Amino acid sequence: MKNICDWNNCLEEGLYKAPVEKDNSKKYRILCLNHVKEFNKNWNYFEGMDDNQINEFIKSDMTWHKPTQSFSSSDNFFKILWNNAMKDELNKTNFKDHFNHMNKFKFNHKDMKAFDILNISAGIKWEKIQEKFKKLVKKFHPDINSGNKKYEDKLKVITLAYTQLKNTYRAKN
Ligand SMILES: [Zn+2]
Repeated sequence: MKNICDWNNCLEEGLYKAPVEKDNSKKYRILCLNHVKEFNKNWNYFEGMDDNQINEFIKSDMTWHKPTQSFSSSDNFFKILWNNAMKDELNKTNFKDHFNHMNKFKFNHKDMKAFDILNISAGIKWEKIQEKFKKLVKKFHPDINSGNKKYEDKLKVITLAYTQLKNTYRAKN
């Protein structure tokens, strides 16, 4: 039996899992491709999560896959997140280019942690963050590392950090 997308009034086939609660990632909604993208755009991954919950999220995301499924499986919420991170949908008018010293206080501890994970200084230009992210993706992509799980885990942490900063740099108009 096919799943129907869980989005209001949508009749498309549901093929993608999206977490319902961040503290219990075993609960998920089944969504079609368009709506999982929509969901992904609006979801701030780190919001309201402490470090343990973030770790738990990363772990549970991996348990969603059957062992035979690879990182590149389509039934993988993380892949959508990753694809979104890879896309240069960074219209300059929608993003703050950088934060100056005066408004650095706008960063919360999750932002600071994300800067730390990416090993870049807080408040640098968005362009530089992208550059660094792409460098790290090349380094840690499991396809380049014979599907090594450790690299996959690392890439997930990097992508979550990048997504966190993307949300922060997105200008709140
Ligand atoms: Zn849908």
